[in-house]
Amino acid sequence: MVGEALVAEHNVREVLGRIGEAALRSGRNPSDVSLMAAVKTRSAEEIEAVVGAGVAFIGENRVQEGEEHLAALSAAARSKCKIHFIGRLQSNKARKALLAFDSLDSVDSPDIARRLSRIAGEENAKKNVMIEVNCGEAQKGGIGTDEAKALGELIFTLPGLVLAGLMAVPPIEADPNETRPVFRRMKRLFEEIRSCHPAKESFVFLSMGMSNDYEVAVEEGATLVRVGTALFGQRRTI
Ligand SMILES: *Cc1c(COP(=O)(O)O)cnc(C)c1O
Repeated sequence: MVGEALVAEHNVREVLGRIGEAALRSGRNPSDVSLMAAVKTRSAEEIEAVVGAGVAFIGENRVQEGEEHLAALSAAARSKCKIHFIGRLQSNKARKALLAFDSLDSVDSPDIARRLSRIAGEENAKKNVMIEVNCGEAQKGGIGTDEAKALGELIFTLPGLVLAGLMAVPPIEADPNETRPVFRRMKRLFEEIRSCHPAKESFVFLSMGMSNDYEVAVEEGATLVRVGTALFGQRRTI
C-alpha cells in the first residue's frame, strides 16, 4: 500500500501537470479539466491510492467489478470521489448500475435512456447521465453524431435523468494528433447540445482523451479525461 501510494502520487502529479500544460497551451484554465481514473482490472488499494493523491473521479467498466470496488473502498475515499460507469450499459444490468454509481456516462440509445428513467422513478432517484457518442470510427459503443442530438432532446424530457455531458471513445492512433479532428467535432456537438439544454449549468462534462491522447483532447476542449495505464501501468488482463 505504501509503495502503491507513492507511485500513484507520482503518476497523478505527472498527469495533472501535463493536463495543466495542455490547458494553458490552448488558453484554457487548468482547473476546468478534471482527471478520471479508469480502474478496470485494478485493485481497491490502487483506487484508494489515486483518490488519496487527489483524483476525484473514478471510471468503472463493469457493474460487478464496480460493486466489488465499492464494497472494498474506505468510507473516507468514497466520500472524496464520484464513481462513473463508463462501460457498455446492458439493459439487464441497468438497475444495478443506476443504484451503484453516481453517474452513467455511456447512455447510447433511446431504449436504455427510457429504461433508466423508469427505474429512476421506481427507485425514487435522480441520476446524472451522459451520452456516449460514436464519432463515425470503427468502435463498438456509442450513438452517431446526428442521433446524439435527438437523444439529448429525449433525455431533457425524461424524469429522473439529468444530462450532464458527452463521452467519446475514439480509436487509439499511433499519432494522437490524428484524433484531433474527432475531438474538435465532439466539442462542436457539445456546444450545440448545450445551446438547447434546459439546465445548461448541469451540462459540464466533455469526457474524451485517454492515456495515449489526453493532452490533445484537453487542447481541443475536454473537461474530463479518462486515464488508466498512465496512472497505474499496463493492465494485467482486460
Ligand atoms: C480503459 C478505458 C480508458 C482508459 O484507457 P487507458 O488507455 O488505459 O488510459 C478510458 N475510457 C474507457 C471507456 C476505458 O474503457
